Amino acid sequence: MTVRLYRVDPFLRHFSARVTMLAWIEGRPAVTLDQTAFYPTSGGQAFDRGTLAGVEVIDVIERDNGEILHTLARAPEFNVGDAIAGEIDWLRRFDHMQQHSGQHVLSAAFARVAGLDTLSVHMGEDDCTVDLPAARLEAELVQRVEDAANQAIYDDLPIRTHEVTAAELPGIPLRKPPSVTGLIRIVEVQGFDWSACGGTHVASTGQIGMIRIHKVEKRGSETRIHFHCGQRALRDYRQASAVAGALSDQLRVSRQELPQAVQRLWLEAQAARKALADAQDRLAQTDAMTLLRDARNAAAEAAAEAAAEAAPMVIARVLADRDATQLKAIAKHLTAGPGVVALLGAPGEKASLCFARSKDAAGDMGKLLREALAALGAKGGGSPDFAQGGGVPASPEQIQQAVDRTRIAMQHSLAGNTQSSGVQER
Ligand SMILES: [Zn+2]
Repeated sequence: MTVRLYRVDPFLRHFSARVTMLAWIEGRPAVTLDQTAFYPTSGGQAFDRGTLAGVEVIDVIERDNGEILHTLARAPEFNVGDAIAGEIDWLRRFDHMQQHSGQHVLSAAFARVAGLDTLSVHMGEDDCTVDLPAARLEAELVQRVEDAANQAIYDDLPIRTHEVTAAELPGIPLRKPPSVTGLIRIVEVQGFDWSACGGTHVASTGQIGMIRIHKVEKRGSETRIHFHCGQRALRDYRQASAVAGALSDQLRVSRQELPQAVQRLWLEAQAARKALADAQDRLAQTDAMTLLRDARNAAAEAAAEAAAEAAPMVIARVLADRDATQLKAIAKHLTAGPGVVALLGAPGEKASLCFARSKDAAGDMGKLLREALAALGAKGGGSPDFAQGGGVPASPEQIQQAVDRTRIAMQHSLAGNTQSSGVQER
């Protein structure tokens, strides 16, 4: 069994050890040592990084036989029996010690102030959480717990570990009965908390720095508390105040006034969007009326000349400065009444074609559109009475050509169906 130096001295950063095994496991070199200061992933605390004889340690796990296995980034130059030097990545380890010790203090504060036992704990690379058996937690209560936890930090309570037997357990006010048997390792926050734990902890609560609950998440009948300790809390505060400062400069209000300012902006944007939509619809109506009037004038002239039969009025037009939404609105207005086929196109970076007809008019708009789009290399589709597509760049000339071709194809098919040449166009 590997001797666990971190249990005796969690502040040990450099150590020497003898190599007891060297193997390839899952394609990576891995070693065991007679003793180690590397903490293996266990009890909710993540493994230590660092180096062994200068080779990077990328994972540390505890094996069933009690050995601690260090996975290395590359094959080492040492052999079994060699004495080698180990070094712990201290920033990472101290961060874990702050989070882990803070978790003990926070869980104890929830038990003392709110009468809530911690159900489970997670300590991740960015976020730490404790789960509590409460469906709902008042913000005021959460704040009182946070205050109590931080008071325990200001009091700078010593943190000690003891190894006790099962027989000695009843004399210790444990927060939670231990799940292990044999010698039990108790972590004591003096006068505040006693927990069975095999992790690494700071020497006194002052070294936790601070505990900040940054999110209270409802999860059915439980509540998940997200918190930061020590340097993570500082990093989070630094980021939060930078964001709040930048927003307050931008919006020219104090930080306290930010929520109302954002709410105001949001309402203004909503009103502006509505006004724009209304204006665009009115514009589409005007466009449609102009196109209809022009088409009717032309039809009247043609009728006078050729005494044409009644046939759908085909309005084939290229409209600049209109997007797909506007084309659709114009086409809908044009074909709301009887006897109209609208073949509309808009050039641009995202060119658009929109073909529509009145319910009583002939023609398959979906089919015509697919043919027109195929020539442009674009996609789209629709039903026999309404179809739209595009989204590719196209010049005014290309769109004009697409619309003209469709108009001619329509006229041919109508002429074929009705033997009539009375199709009017514009
Ligand atoms: Zn612990």
